[in-house]
Amino acid sequence: MAETTRVYLDHAASTPVHPDVLEAMLPYFSEAYGNPSSVHYWGQQAEAAVERSRGAMADVLGCAPQEIIFTACGSESDNLALRGAALARRMKHGHNHLVVSAVEHHAVLKTAESLAQIEGFKVDLVEPDNFGEIHAEALARVLRPDTAVVSIMYANNEVGTVNQISDMAQLCRDAGVPFHTDAVQAGGHLPLDVEALGVDLLSLGAHKFYGPKGVGALYVRADTELVSTLTGGSQEFGLRAGTHNVPLIVGMAKALSLVQEEGQARANHTLPLRDRLIRDIPDTIPQARVTGHPTNRLPNHASFVFEGVDGNQLLAALDLAGFACSSGSACKTGDPEPSQVLLAMGLTADWALGSLRVTLGRDTESHSIDRFLSVLPDMVQRLRAQAVVHW
Ligand SMILES: *Cc1c(COP(=O)(O)O)cnc(C)c1O
Repeated sequence: MAETTRVYLDHAASTPVHPDVLEAMLPYFSEAYGNPSSVHYWGQQAEAAVERSRGAMADVLGCAPQEIIFTACGSESDNLALRGAALARRMKHGHNHLVVSAVEHHAVLKTAESLAQIEGFKVDLVEPDNFGEIHAEALARVLRPDTAVVSIMYANNEVGTVNQISDMAQLCRDAGVPFHTDAVQAGGHLPLDVEALGVDLLSLGAHKFYGPKGVGALYVRADTELVSTLTGGSQEFGLRAGTHNVPLIVGMAKALSLVQEEGQARANHTLPLRDRLIRDIPDTIPQARVTGHPTNRLPNHASFVFEGVDGNQLLAALDLAGFACSSGSACKTGDPEPSQVLLAMGLTADWALGSLRVTLGRDTESHSIDRFLSVLPDMVQRLRAQAVVHW
């Protein structure tokens, strides 16, 4: 398979660095290489770049610059939000209860699990509806006076469903409980104004919106009780020790400002392609369903299940045909278990094991989607035929 005929349809897993982002980062690798904490010229130059980036990101989120904490990835932002708030509020108020949704990314789910196992927190999971959406009424049922923190994702990485975050944030504000949202998948597509959303904590990861891998941010509303989970130097207002990764921070800020400039055009480009996938696949393939919300979903995100198909075999067959897709979450590659997210949405294992996620990007071409749609039906039927052969 020649390199040029390969088609990347896995933008929810990661995106290429935008050329303007690369250009903005380059000087900070080998010219302006100082440590932002140093007193001298090189240090000042690096510090200025970090603070410019912080200011640019704060403008997008509608917050104060000192409410942005730079981290090493979306996962770290989720960890800092959950663990930092849970431990702080237990120390201060004795609160011992956590609420997260059942369809969170592992960065949230496993952190809650770890806080339960190691720190003895009680955890309640909020169940989604059949579209993967979390509702305020379901959240209200598990909130308690001793809830230390609530974490509900903005948009789901596996099925693309977008949640009405502001309703749930308001509910938590009324109850005096800090509200975190994992906006790592949403960051490149949805409004991030933290006042309109009403959130106290919000996680971002640059590589999901054409920024570099290995850098993220956590918005922390002023006065939110939080302890540092990475201790050492006093960087990031004492909330995250470690010398700043200056080039990556510069790249993330540039990538986020490009989302503001190009976001609408990117959505206009991917929406019709997404809708063609969502319409055609259940039409042309028997026992195929769209997963997630049919309309209230990310503009580049299409996801499906095929009954009686091994999702991993389907991915391998697609890869051979030149199409890079995912079964849902990049973090679950090689996992033979059906997705917990799909099971929580009410799908049976026989359906959930045959999951496929197709996520589009700014470079995705219409004729590639035509070609994808022309090869997929036979591929699914071939795998089903193979699955009934017993040796
Ligand atoms: C990708 C992703 C993460 C993890 O972000 P990294 O920067 O890869 O650590 C967390 N949550 C969601 C919803 C994601 O899509």
